[in-house]
Amino acid sequence: MNIDALETWLKPKSDPLLIAGPCSVESEEQMMKTAASLARNGNVTAFRGGVWKPRTKPGSFEGIGSPALKWLKQAGTEFNIPVTTEVANARHVEEALDAGIDILWIGARTTVNPFYVQDIADALKGVDVPVMVKNPIHPEVKLWMGALERINNAGISKLIGIHRGFYAYQSQPFRNEPKWEVFFEMRRLLPELPIICDPSHIAGRSELIGEICQSALDLGMDGFMVESHIEPHKALSDPLQQLRPYDLDLVYKALERRDEAIDDERFIHKLEELREQIDSIDGQILKLIAERQRLSEAIGPVKYENQATIFQMKRWFKVLESRKKEGADLHLDEDLVHELFQLLHKYSIDTQIKNHH
Ligand code: PEP
Ligand code: MN
Repeated sequence: MNIDALETWLKPKSDPLLIAGPCSVESEEQMMKTAASLARNGNVTAFRGGVWKPRTKPGSFEGIGSPALKWLKQAGTEFNIPVTTEVANARHVEEALDAGIDILWIGARTTVNPFYVQDIADALKGVDVPVMVKNPIHPEVKLWMGALERINNAGISKLIGIHRGFYAYQSQPFRNEPKWEVFFEMRRLLPELPIICDPSHIAGRSELIGEICQSALDLGMDGFMVESHIEPHKALSDPLQQLRPYDLDLVYKALERRDEAIDDERFIHKLEELREQIDSIDGQILKLIAERQRLSEAIGPVKYENQATIFQMKRWFKVLESRKKEGADLHLDEDLVHELFQLLHKYSIDTQIKNHH
């Protein structure tokens, strides 16, 4: 993929990018007041504002629609800041471009559907507008990359990925699970792609936005898209996860910039020492897993000869329960133990099935 580096088009300084604005553009007054406050903070790179809102259930506020485009653009013109909105189909693209919207973004509910993304890509042919692509609702790296590729193939090189977390049936304390490992994988596969974090949709609650921003920064993300509303409690969509511009400024200013590579000798030495220990433990873990895997391979024929099913539900529940108890005694996170054994168990079963065929 041919992707432009952020520095060349949107980020003049080394500061993390900050795209901020309301979840939805609700009125001229709400947009202009929010934009005025954000502009006063002096650290906003672009204003966001949803015009067409994808809502989970019908009957919720679905955005003002086309008339809101001019309020968003007006805010940008007034404060000389680029503006961005979500597009979900070719008509949205056309209307947004006609209204002079500077940057478009594709929402999580659209990224999941290659038909929609292709429709948007086709509408973008011959246009040089930056496009941001949010991760799909579920953690499928290839689908996220595929969406970026479709837009890229339409001739768009100014691309940004937005990590907004992933739906999970239970995702406490967050609305959407961050699953940072998906970001790591995107960085590995597309090192040149700028990726920003949307802490509002990960958090679901404004109190958590600061800590998520700090994590994102520590992990090396390029900036943030944050929902900000002049009066969050009155917001027509996502009222719990929007920060007042003043509070957003506090969050942004409190962020600590940490360097990935610090050249302090003592720091490097300490880090190396600890990493060596980790490397050695990882080696032991792998050896133990190999041993475990051999045992589970030996169990396969025993089950087969006795006409027992490969998957033994009662045994699995017992394993899980006892490992969680042992883990708790060792002060290990319950989810870590659960996921680890789920994975080990899955590969045991897979091996037994494979060997049997
Ligand atoms: C939004 O940014 O307001 C939005 C709808 O987000 P997402 O697509 O991440 O759910
Ligand atoms: Mn929102």
